[in-house]
Amino acid sequence: MRRVFSFWIVTLVAAWALSGFADEVGKEISSWVPGMMEIHQISTGRGNAGLYIFPDGTTMLVDAGELGKKTERHTPDRPDGTRRAGEWITRYIRHALRHDPKPVLDYALLTHFHDDHMGEASENTPTSSSGAYRLSGLTEVGDKLRIGKMMDRGWPDYSYPTPLTAAEVKNYREFAKWQMEKNAMKMERFTPGRNDQVVLLRDAKKYSDFEFRNIGANGEIWTGTGAETQKCFPSLDTVPRADWPHENMCSTSFRISYGKFDYFNGGDIPGIPSDGYPQWHDVETPIAKAVGPVEAAILDHHGYIDTQNAFFVSTLRPRVWVISVWDSAHPTTRVWNRLQSQRLYKGPRDVVATDVHDAALIVSGGLSRLASKHGHIVLRVAAGGGEYRVLIVDDTNESHHITKIFGPYTSKGKE
Ligand SMILES: [Zn+2]
Repeated sequence: MRRVFSFWIVTLVAAWALSGFADEVGKEISSWVPGMMEIHQISTGRGNAGLYIFPDGTTMLVDAGELGKKTERHTPDRPDGTRRAGEWITRYIRHALRHDPKPVLDYALLTHFHDDHMGEASENTPTSSSGAYRLSGLTEVGDKLRIGKMMDRGWPDYSYPTPLTAAEVKNYREFAKWQMEKNAMKMERFTPGRNDQVVLLRDAKKYSDFEFRNIGANGEIWTGTGAETQKCFPSLDTVPRADWPHENMCSTSFRISYGKFDYFNGGDIPGIPSDGYPQWHDVETPIAKAVGPVEAAILDHHGYIDTQNAFFVSTLRPRVWVISVWDSAHPTTRVWNRLQSQRLYKGPRDVVATDVHDAALIVSGGLSRLASKHGHIVLRVAAGGGEYRVLIVDDTNESHHITKIFGPYTSKGKE
C-alpha cells in the first residue's frame, strides 16, 4: 500500500514539474522537457535574438543582432559590456539547451538584413579563428554553435530589390560559404506558403499537431489556402524607384501552431505607409488576413510608428504581446494605444518587453502599464499546446533567475 502511495506521489511531482508549476520567482528557470515548447526573446540591449525549442527538442534561432554603434538612445548592454552580444546570446542558448549534452541549432532564420538582427561588420569587428569572416551577432553564434539549416530572404543571389552589398551582408555570405564547406550547413531561401521548410527533426510523429507555416517574404504572402501565395508588391519596373520596397518590408514572417496555441513573428514588417507612399507599403494587412487570431505575437518592428495597424491588431488579437526593444523610439504611443484598445478587440492582454528605454517611458506614459519592462522573455507552452505561461528572467546577470511569472493562460485556438 505504501509503495503504491509513493508511486503516486512521484508521478504527481513529475506531472507538476512538467506542467511548469515548478517555476518560482527568485529561482533559476527550470530546464526544458519533452512536449514543452519554448520561445525565448533574449535581451542584450543590442538587437533582436530569439531561441525556439519545439516540442520534440528541435531548435531554431531567429536573428542574433548586434548594433555597431550605441548612443544614449539605447539601453545599456545586457548583462553588461564585457562581452559582445553574440557571446552573451551563445551563453544564454547553452543554458536554455542544458538538457542536451551537444547542443546545436537545427535551424536559423535571418528575418532581414539589418545589423540589429544580424550583427555589424566593421574594421574593428573581431575575425573568426579561421579568418574567413568577422564575428558579430548571428555569425558569432553560428561560429560557436553548429547551425543545421540557415534560411534568409535573399539566398542565393541576394539581389532583391537591389543587390545587397552592405558590409554586414558581405560578411554573412562569407560566413555562410565557410559553414557550408566546413560544417555542412545547408542554405535555403525562406519560401512563403510552405509548411515543410521547418519541421520537427527529432520526434515528429509524436507531435503531429505542430506546424511551422512560412507566411511571407519579399512581398510574397501566403493566402491561407494550401501553400498558395500572392505577390503583394508590384513589379519593380512599374513603380518609381523612390517607392521600391525597403528592407523592413521584405522581412520574413511565420506562424507556429501547437495544438490550440498559435504564435506570430513578422520581423520588421510595417503596416502604416509613410505619408504619400502607396498603400501596398502596408505589409501587415495581407499577412494578418492569412494568419488570423493567435495566442501570442511579437510586435512588428519593435513597435515603431509604422506598425501594428488597427486591422492587424484586431485580427491577431493575442492575449500576450512581446516587444523586443532597446531603443528610445520603440514602442510609440499610438502603437501602445492600439495594443490597449478594447474597440480593436475585447478582453484582457498582457504586454511584456525585453528592455524599455527610460525616455520611452517618459514620452509614452501608458507604458508604465507594461506587465514587464525588462528581462529575457520565455513563453512556455505546456505539452499539447492547451496552456502557456510567460516567464521573465533577469537579464542583468547570468543567474537565470525568474523575476515574474504570468499565466497560466488557456489557448483558444481559431475561435
Ligand atoms: Zn529591427
